[in-house]
Amino acid sequence: MAMLPNYDDRWQNTLHWQPQNSQQQSFQQLYEAILVANQQVNLTRITTPDDFWEKHLWDSLQGVQPWLSDLDIGAPALKVVDIGTGGGFPGLPVALVFPHWAIALMDATRKKIAALESVCATLGIANVGFLPQRAEQVAHQPVHREAYDLALLRAVGPVNTCAEYALPLLNLGGQAVLYRGQWTAEEEAGLVAILPRLGGQLLEVRSQVTPLTQGVRHTVVVTKIDRTPDKFPRLPGIPAKTPLV
Ligand code: SAH
Repeated sequence: MAMLPNYDDRWQNTLHWQPQNSQQQSFQQLYEAILVANQQVNLTRITTPDDFWEKHLWDSLQGVQPWLSDLDIGAPALKVVDIGTGGGFPGLPVALVFPHWAIALMDATRKKIAALESVCATLGIANVGFLPQRAEQVAHQPVHREAYDLALLRAVGPVNTCAEYALPLLNLGGQAVLYRGQWTAEEEAGLVAILPRLGGQLLEVRSQVTPLTQGVRHTVVVTKIDRTPDKFPRLPGIPAKTPLV
């Protein structure tokens, strides 16, 4: 099986963090297990070592950069939900680097979640849970509503759709990290316009360039400042088909 690169200098230069040897080994095991599972279920098209390193490992972790710098000072454990996790990104790399966090991997496609369950069982990843359901359903279940400190969403749809999925799941003061590629002033204005209806507020937008291929990334961080009205998220399919405007 191909070996992942060990780009300690690139981690340091971009995120001011680098994996410990044991974490590098966990990344390698994750890579191998995802490639094996990928033969049964379509989890990812990103499979070469450099692509996996940059677009799955590095990219997943750049979204949580503020927490990486607190790792060694005993920062609190967070309850996290990765909405639309697909092949386990960004949730699985985050679970490996933050073993004290509890990460729920959510996806509407049951067979992807089943594949991730077996990957996690094989690797002994114990700080993850599995939600094979749509965000629109999970967010109306009392055990999940307003129950998370952090929601992660990468490649799940328009930003206003993502906000409608995420904010109902967050507790007050919780944050949604929206992983975006390009980010325009129009998108930002459109998001800022609808956030008050969901109880959200834009906290910051960080921009990054991916370290190997210089791709553009934006990390849009939203905080929950008010309770989300019970009518959100709307019925399954509606937030994607008709994003809030
Ligand atoms: N986050 C992963 C996968 C992106 S593909 C990555 O960045 O690599 C988008 C995934 O979101 C798909 O697996 C799809 O099944 C899931 N998804 C889309 N809408 C959803 C919803 N409303 N609730 C839960 N999962 C959803």
